[in-house]
Amino acid sequence: MNNERKLNEALAKLHADYLDLTVKQQAYVVGEVGKTRVQVIDLLEEYATKNDIVSKARLNPLLRDLEYVEKSIRTTAESALITVMDEAAESGLSGTTDAIQSTLSQSVEFILTAKIAESVVLRGLTGKQPTTRNLATYLAEKTGPDGLKLSDRVWQFAGDQRAEMSNVLRRGIIRGDTTASMVRDIKNVYSTEDWKARRLALTESNTAYRTAIGYVAEQSKFVKALRLVPGAHHSPKCVAKAAEDRHGLGAGIFLPSDTDIYSIHPNCTAYTQYILSEEVR
Ligand SMILES: [Zn+2]
Repeated sequence: MNNERKLNEALAKLHADYLDLTVKQQAYVVGEVGKTRVQVIDLLEEYATKNDIVSKARLNPLLRDLEYVEKSIRTTAESALITVMDEAAESGLSGTTDAIQSTLSQSVEFILTAKIAESVVLRGLTGKQPTTRNLATYLAEKTGPDGLKLSDRVWQFAGDQRAEMSNVLRRGIIRGDTTASMVRDIKNVYSTEDWKARRLALTESNTAYRTAIGYVAEQSKFVKALRLVPGAHHSPKCVAKAAEDRHGLGAGIFLPSDTDIYSIHPNCTAYTQYILSEEVR
């Protein structure tokens, strides 16, 4: 019991550090998406007349050209999110293996150095190197509880952002606003929409973090089960999941193969602790 308690203290600390990392990750994704704003400004300049307005006759071509910005938001956001998931998986993978090694004095090096993963938990990883990048891309391809893949969520995000930009530009051009004024409107669109980028970053990152920890649990012969600790906001979905006794092992006790606990709801900050096998407990 003593080992398990020490290990779980280490996992709680790891989770706290990881949450600090997510704050930076969210800022990173918002920043990357924000870089595409320059393209809208370029478009406005390209379409502007000498008196710094855009003629109504050019409204539709300009709005059509927003398609390039939307595409660019998509690629930028998707690659930033994969980076964030890779980082989160790295934090979960190396953090838990370090914690196991230091509290149990057992080597779990084999998890990090495995050439090829054999995983029931992460079927898509089987036969590939269990690198954090592979884990991230596997998760990106996986359909989530919302029935969507990462790219679908990103398409939705980019599409919404484009729609908002179209609205403000249409309004501005019809009103005869100056490009400077429309540049400010676009800036506002980016800042009012950035919570969506933050939510994507946090949600995808958490899934990668928890999946990596579940993968270590599956691969390590010392870990018997996972205990789900609901997120700080105690959202109903999380609390209900943590109250479930799926395997008769107790409330909130799951097996690594219960992948639904790695992705419960958007913005979820739940995490898992380890239940150790008797011999090392
Ligand atoms: Zn939650």
